[in-house]
Amino acid sequence: MREAIIVVDMLNDFVTGALACDRGKAIVPHLAKFLDGARKAGVPVIFANDCHTPVVDREFKVWGPHAVEGTKGAEVIPELKLNKEIDYVVPKKRYSGFFQTGLDALLRELGVDTVIVTGLHAHMCCRHTAADAFQLGYEVEVASDCIDAFTKEDYDIGIKYLKEVYGAKVMTSDDFIAKWRK
Ligand code: ZN
Repeated sequence: MREAIIVVDMLNDFVTGALACDRGKAIVPHLAKFLDGARKAGVPVIFANDCHTPVVDREFKVWGPHAVEGTKGAEVIPELKLNKEIDYVVPKKRYSGFFQTGLDALLRELGVDTVIVTGLHAHMCCRHTAADAFQLGYEVEVASDCIDAFTKEDYDIGIKYLKEVYGAKVMTSDDFIAKWRK
């Protein structure tokens, strides 16, 4: 098994900006620690980032402007210490990290067969990303304390769906890190 972490939309606009969310803020320390553990263990960290086209982007009809390409709101939050030397960044225009992006090719080049889904939101972009991962043949895992949504209900709905529909294995980030140390 070769794992990679996919960090979905942990961008300024989703945590403190246009679509700010307290539950998103709450996972930041857990996720920062998890990513450090992954980097030390040689597990690839891939940021799947909303990177929307100004004004006309399809998603703005639903959510209003957010994560506009080239703006501060579209940057990964500083706490996660994106390291361009060893981490990977995949810009996306839609909910799924796979839709018309280079994510599938990147995972294949890295020899990855299992993705650990983290970030925001459990019932939307994480779910769409997990759907495509499953359909493309990847195993789906979830770090339960490093993913969230606007509400507890949305979180529960998202995690339940990932478990039931994609057979996702759900573990805490500490359990993943402990497994990598063995
Ligand atoms: Zn978006």
